[in-house]
Amino acid sequence: MDEHGGGGCGGGLRRVVVVGGGIAGSLLAKSLQFFANVTLIDPKEYLEIPYGSLRSTVEPSFAERSLIKHSEYFSNGRLITSPAVDITESQVLVADGRHVDFDFLVVATGHDHPLPTTRDHRLQHYREENERIREANSILIVGGGPSGVELAGEIVTDFRDKAITLVHDGPRLLEFMGPKASDKALKWLVSRRVAVKLDQKIDLNNVSEGTKTFGSSKGETIRADCHFVCTGQPVGSAWLHKTMLKINLDRHGRLMVDGTLRVKGRNNVFAIGDITDIRESKQGESAKRQAKVAAKNMKMIMVGKESKMESYRPPSSTTAIVSLGRKQAVAQFSLTTIAGTLPGFIKSRDLFVGKARKHLGLHPTFVDSF
Ligand SMILES: Cc1cc2nc3c(=O)[nH]c(=O)nc-3n(C[C@H](O)[C@H](O)[C@H](O)COP(=O)(O)OP(=O)(O)OC[C@H]3O[C@@H](n4cnc5c(N)ncnc54)[C@H](O)[C@@H]3O)c2cc1C
Repeated sequence: MDEHGGGGCGGGLRRVVVVGGGIAGSLLAKSLQFFANVTLIDPKEYLEIPYGSLRSTVEPSFAERSLIKHSEYFSNGRLITSPAVDITESQVLVADGRHVDFDFLVVATGHDHPLPTTRDHRLQHYREENERIREANSILIVGGGPSGVELAGEIVTDFRDKAITLVHDGPRLLEFMGPKASDKALKWLVSRRVAVKLDQKIDLNNVSEGTKTFGSSKGETIRADCHFVCTGQPVGSAWLHKTMLKINLDRHGRLMVDGTLRVKGRNNVFAIGDITDIRESKQGESAKRQAKVAAKNMKMIMVGKESKMESYRPPSSTTAIVSLGRKQAVAQFSLTTIAGTLPGFIKSRDLFVGKARKHLGLHPTFVDSF
């Protein structure tokens, strides 16, 4: 079935299909909506700004701003709320049975994190998570990467009476940052009586919602009224393994791209965001810059100026900031690593949610009721 009615090019406009409406795909779809005939495919009716997710667990109303219906920023295109399941040379196949023709394809499926498909259900999910925290005396957090550390920081700031245990299977917290940042985060948490256990694994195989005792690889038993698993998410490319793009995946499941962000060896397929094999720290800021470069490059091809395409350059040094509650954070800059209220001032109050909303042309704080 041709979704554009007989294979036409939508009044001369080229057909761009964006698969994945996360940080990268949403900005790209917004940028091209008045230049091309854009279809955005995402299993969810909304974009979730992931940076706000841990604050939303302790303060569910925070999610009102970080969950944005695609229709809010994408008004001049077609939205399909169903996952893409296959790709051919000219079509994307969607789980709901539709076949969508494209002239250009953009893959932006980031990390695999199955979430409720409606915004209302996601908001309800946050309220339920919050209730679990409120009712618990003791809480176990599994995973000491950015999500586990930020969640522990949020809970210990808003709920000082909870006994929190954070178990991490590596030798230090925040292993994506340097040892100084790990040290500062550890000291911050320990000073607030979070029990941090390193080099231990929790056996999650027999764990369910009601489980209250957890065995660790060191033979310890940890008791907790509720638990949160923050062990990171796989790259969102499982669905690509049966498509024509399977030969373009590297051994980590990432799409190999050239400098212009085209998938290597393909003229009309781009990839942006966390799904790419670009060697850099996977961050939303990079995902947004890639969306801008890919949008510009597609426009150049569309107007016959392929030679004017831009190359994406990863940042020479990346700042990484992990929030520690509402006012503090640990930050790694190119020359120094600091913790406290200064980096907290940069990130922790708003978690960059207002900034991400502004990039999509939305008011940073005001949310339309719909
Ligand atoms: C807790 C947390 C805090 C973070 N904090 C920061 C921060 O402070 N600063 C920063 O710069 N970065 C931060 N990041 C990293 C940042 O969120 C990611 O780098 C960014 O989201 C990557 O964007 P993306 O568009 O590539 O992927 P994602 O945002 O993961 O979006 C992927 C999209 O693809 C969709 N999708 C998946 N499979 C399919 C399919 N088969 N068909 C169609 N659609 C599909 C998903 O529904 C989703 O909408 C944080 C991440 C997390 C988890």
